[in-house]
Formats: sequence, structure tokens, C-alpha cells
Amino acid sequence: IEELKAEIPAVLVEIEQEISPLLSLGQVANYIPELSNVDSNNFGMAVRFIDGATFETGNSRTNFSIQSISKVFSLTLAFAILKENLWFRVGKEPSGNPFNSLIQLENEDGKPRNPFINAGAIVIADIISSHFEDPLNTTIDFIREIAINKELSINMGVLQSEKNYGHRNAALAHFMKSYNNIHSDVEDVLDLYFGHCSIEMNCFDLATAFLYLANHGIHPLTGKAYLNASQAKRLNSLLLTCGTYDAAGEFAYKVGMPGKSGVGGGIAAIIPGVLSVAVWSPGLDNYGNSLAGAKALELFTTKTGISIF
Ligand code: GLU
Repeated sequence: IEELKAEIPAVLVEIEQEISPLLSLGQVANYIPELSNVDSNNFGMAVRFIDGATFETGNSRTNFSIQSISKVFSLTLAFAILKENLWFRVGKEPSGNPFNSLIQLENEDGKPRNPFINAGAIVIADIISSHFEDPLNTTIDFIREIAINKELSINMGVLQSEKNYGHRNAALAHFMKSYNNIHSDVEDVLDLYFGHCSIEMNCFDLATAFLYLANHGIHPLTGKAYLNASQAKRLNSLLLTCGTYDAAGEFAYKVGMPGKSGVGGGIAAIIPGVLSVAVWSPGLDNYGNSLAGAKALELFTTKTGISIF
């Protein structure tokens, strides 16, 4: 591990150079209009070891919209509440379809394929809504706690934009409600879902927040347990198979780490027992993953020779 740490500063310099031609090739998300106001030239990366050692480059302290990365945090809360009973409500198979697809829900009786597609994350939001009095603040407080950053908050412009243009997500929620797989009011569930997607964090925050997944469910910097070791293994397995949209196979093949991406251009990934890493670059590929970010993670495991395999 100490040898690995010694290598990382030079590896980060190389990565930043090698991804720079890609920055202009990705497309910043614009289906939520507020997300399109971000400069695609941004690139940041932060690596945190479970002992707290940190390595960063680029715009690693610039906040961005975490979007679907928040689904990992909401799943953690719901998994801790329902444990294995969670899987009566949502599946664990890759969808093979875009993240906002409606197509499989009818054949599968309103049960989403996995917790990381929008339909699945909306069911997760429903579980949290039914369980906590103030579900959005509970979720935000949880994220602040694992990121060890009390300042984290929602970008209200993004939140409003998500609500104004959230017709597909509303359709998913209503459709699942018709199968009785949404129990709370659809409006309340969507407020929570849009709310956690609109939280802003930076690469350093995200790498810190993912450390419990790199450490068998216990945050190594605070000692607090969020999942047991088996649950952490299972959540990481889902990240590997379903965490990066309909390109999870490609991502696993090239990167070799479980990770979660969001359409804000962030990706957070982990190596159990070793480290977490977060990258951000807003230009996306056709699947919705950060183009330069995914390449940076591929270069990271290739150059250092570490991965989960
Ligand atoms: N809030 C976004 C949506 O529901 C999340 C998209 C994403 O990052 O995948 O459309």
C-alpha cells in the first residue's frame, strides 16, 4: 500500500494529461436544463485511502451535481431499514436499458430491475419516505455525515429544473404506484428523489463519502457502521453490475472497480480494503457516463495495476 501511495501523484499527473483531449468530446447533460450551464473543460479527481491519505488533482474541490451517485446513499439507508426484504420491491439485475426507461416495468409487474435505474431509485425513495418523518433532511444529514462535511446542500436551481422537467420520473412513479410498488404519495416520493439527486458535492467529498463501501460498511475515518460486511459486499456487487448505466459491462471490463456515475459528470468507485476514488468531468458519453471520468478511472487501474481483480 505504501508503494502504491508513492506512485499516485505521478499517476494523477499522467492521467490529467492523457484525458485532456477528451474534454471537448463529451456532451454536457441538457435534458435537465440547469445541468447544461457547466463548463465541459472541468476535470477533477480525488483518491482517498482508508487510512485517510488523500491525493487530488484538477478541480477536485469544485462542487457539482451528484445526480445518480446519490442513489448509492439512498440505497444504503433503505438497505439498512429493510435488509433482504428490500428485494421484494426492487430487483438486482442489470437492466440492459437506459436509466430512465419505462419499458421493462410492465412485464415485471412494476418491480424495477435494480436500485440504480431511475425506477429503482424511486422505489428506494418511497421506502425512505415511509420510514422517516423528514426523509429528505435525514438523507442529506446522512450524506453530510459520511462525507464529513456539514456544508453539503441542495442546488435549488437544479432541484427546480428537475421538477419542471421530471415528467418521465413522474410517469415511472405513477406507473409503479398502479402496481402498488409505491406506497407514499407520488409527489412526496418525487420530492425526495429529486432532492437527493440535486445535492452538490466535489470529488474530495465523494471519495470521503464512499469510504464506508471500501471498508466493509464501516466508515474508516469515523468508525461508524452503516452496513454489515455482507451488505457492503452486496451493494458493491450491484455497483459493479448496475452502477454505470447501460455501459456497466464496458466499465467493469475497462476499469475493474465497482462504481456509480451520475449525469452531472461524477463517478465514484472503490477498491475494498484499500481506497475510494472520485472523478468529475461534465462531458458525457452516449450512455450518460463522464467520458473523461471513465477514461481517468481506466487509466488509474491500468497504471497502478490495482483493481478488484
Ligand atoms: N435526477 C436525474 C434523473 O432522474 C438522475 C439522472 C442520473 O444521474 O442518472 O433524470
